[in-house]
Amino acid sequence: MTGLPPLRDVIKRFGLNASKALGQNFLFDSQLLDRIAAIPGPLQGQTVYEVGPGPGGLTRALLKAGADVVAVEMDHRCIAALAELESFYPGKLRVIEGDALKMDERALAGEGAHIVANLPYNVGTALLIRWLGGEQWMPWWSSLSLMFQREVADRIIAKPDTDAYGRLAVLAQWRSEPVLALPVHRSAFVPPPKVMSAVVHITPKPAPHGVRMAVLERVTAAAFGQRRKMLRQSLKGLAGGLDALEACGIDPTRRAETLSVDEFIAIARALDAARG
Ligand code: SAM
Repeated sequence: MTGLPPLRDVIKRFGLNASKALGQNFLFDSQLLDRIAAIPGPLQGQTVYEVGPGPGGLTRALLKAGADVVAVEMDHRCIAALAELESFYPGKLRVIEGDALKMDERALAGEGAHIVANLPYNVGTALLIRWLGGEQWMPWWSSLSLMFQREVADRIIAKPDTDAYGRLAVLAQWRSEPVLALPVHRSAFVPPPKVMSAVVHITPKPAPHGVRMAVLERVTAAAFGQRRKMLRQSLKGLAGGLDALEACGIDPTRRAETLSVDEFIAIARALDAARG
């Protein structure tokens, strides 16, 4: 949009020198930001819940793509800068100051919103687990497009028989489809972090019937808690675990990392069924 000051000027004018404590690594490249904003699909008339807008680079790209944006930012210094952006897009941007980990985002953004965020690692993973969790499915959100350290992105999309495959992969894949949408070089950020990043795009799919999240979590925690051990050893401490393996016809000498997501689902279902 014409008339918007360059982001570097905004940073200077509002004194937004990057805070390490808040995990601030900003993106300025408008082409890259447009590519990130395109990941959820066409946004005209859609609501986006953005976490951690900072000086507003990604927010600009989302607004340019036609989205209505609800943004939550914890850094008080950014709020005035974002208010300026609000005035360029009247009625299209709502900024809330606060901690995303404490928000009722469903109430703020509404049913069907897309979630987009470039967040510090620990906050991003905590929010991912919250958005993927919960017994109610389908979820309130339509898609998640989240920036992670590349290594975490690899763990989310990992397939069996790889080092990256573990609890996070099963949690992310049993009722949603994560894809690595865009690798992002560390040099794209100001200041550049030590590691590479990537945006992961996640869309929900119907949950398999007869499986509860809590039970699946117990199975994956036990199995991957001792990932180098055979299942007959790692599932020993899980009541009914060895019987569930047998009921599913899974060889107890296998290791957790060789099991497909569907096999984990089958074990969790058998465990639940056995408990009546
Ligand atoms: N979206 C901007 C960009 O791409 O340039 C900023 C990204 S920066 C990596 C992360 C942003 O998240 C910072 O603005 C930081 O203040 C904010 N943040 C960190 N923890 C947060 C939390 N718990 N809730 C809301 N915002 C948070």
